[in-house]
Amino acid sequence: MKILKIHHRLSHWLAHASVIATLMLLSRSHWVFSKLYHGGQSVENICLAIAVFLGFVLLMLVPVAILLPIRMAETALRILTVSVTLYVFWPTIRTLPIVSQELGAAQKIGLIGGTLILAALAAAKLTPELWRRMQKAIVFAAILYIAFPMLLARVTDPLVLQMPRQGPLVVLLLDELNADAGEQIAAAIALEGGEPRTRLIQAVGPSTITVIPEFLGGPHMPQARVCSPTAVCDTSGVFDFSRLRFDPTDRMHIVGFFHPYCSASGLASCAGVSIPSSVSPIIDLLCSFGRILPGKKADDCVWFDARSWQAFRMRARDTMFLSPFWQEGGILYAHMPFPHPPGNLQGAGLAADYGDNLKLAANTAAQVWKRGRARFGDDFRLIVTSDHPLRPELYCRHEKYLETGCNITPSAFEGFVPYIEVGQRFSDVLKIEDNANIFKKN
Ligand SMILES: [Zn+2]
Repeated sequence: MKILKIHHRLSHWLAHASVIATLMLLSRSHWVFSKLYHGGQSVENICLAIAVFLGFVLLMLVPVAILLPIRMAETALRILTVSVTLYVFWPTIRTLPIVSQELGAAQKIGLIGGTLILAALAAAKLTPELWRRMQKAIVFAAILYIAFPMLLARVTDPLVLQMPRQGPLVVLLLDELNADAGEQIAAAIALEGGEPRTRLIQAVGPSTITVIPEFLGGPHMPQARVCSPTAVCDTSGVFDFSRLRFDPTDRMHIVGFFHPYCSASGLASCAGVSIPSSVSPIIDLLCSFGRILPGKKADDCVWFDARSWQAFRMRARDTMFLSPFWQEGGILYAHMPFPHPPGNLQGAGLAADYGDNLKLAANTAAQVWKRGRARFGDDFRLIVTSDHPLRPELYCRHEKYLETGCNITPSAFEGFVPYIEVGQRFSDVLKIEDNANIFKKN
């Protein structure tokens, strides 16, 4: 009789625990998708982190099952189930007007407390039969919710990009290039005999993730966040790199980082350069939970290790100069991780580091011009632009600049980036107003 009772309790606990573990896993889908999307962790590392995490969740639930009296254990597991469910749907809940974008400590404590009370109310009154049905419905709805962007991307028309044929072109996207820095880039190109025409254009968003989809001809996505291994979503829709098509006759070559460019089709060649990861995948995964805690911000889990970023910048630059474009021609779109901080100067503050990265950016732009002219002659064209200006508010919280200082003069042109055209066959630089649809405009 007693063994039967234990067996019954155990299987009941297992049913509960597997639902909670599944929901916990689904709540981490954004983390998994982000890692796959940006290429920051290997697939093995992602699997390892998830396995350790699931083991930990199940282990944490054992004391609840063993130590608490049956009724209390049941209530606790139900409350946990409802709370985790709300957490799965959090990306949508946080876009509601009543929840502001960056929550304060008091708001977060209120939210967590409110969730627990709501969960207790919702969970306590249901009969076992009704509860079981609700568990199934919750898991089903959660899976559908996570898979929805991928399903949506499957049924939307692919985005086809077709360039006007005007000879060999390089579009060099220097990540995080301030409007004020355009002159320095232009001067370096001029030293190599180019005649750059420069103007300032509006950045259509504040960050790489919000700008690049629109840069490539996608919708305006001010709230864009990763929602599948190849797509970003926001309330206005989904932009999926695997649905991006280039006309093979354009001979489009891409070298880039941060976005899954190589998922696009019709490319002549593509090389993705992975962002270096300086933390273990398990710490990274655990940190992704920390965002809901009071005093923590979403970008607290963004790590920039100065030394590995230096190697990363050089790797990206070398990869660009090894692109088959330099033999075959066509179009090269190169998204380079500089002058993007951090920098590599010992003990330097943000301003000095950024200045140093700018030198690399200017030198690279000049080299691209020199090489393109040598290889393709008068036909060669170069566009240098950026996704968004420097974001001091992000880097001032960076470990290095907390120590070395973050004294930086804010850009006089907030929200603007340079747009530089070099080459004879350009239509009119003055037509460009912002960094949306850069390829289509030329
Ligand atoms: Zn960027």
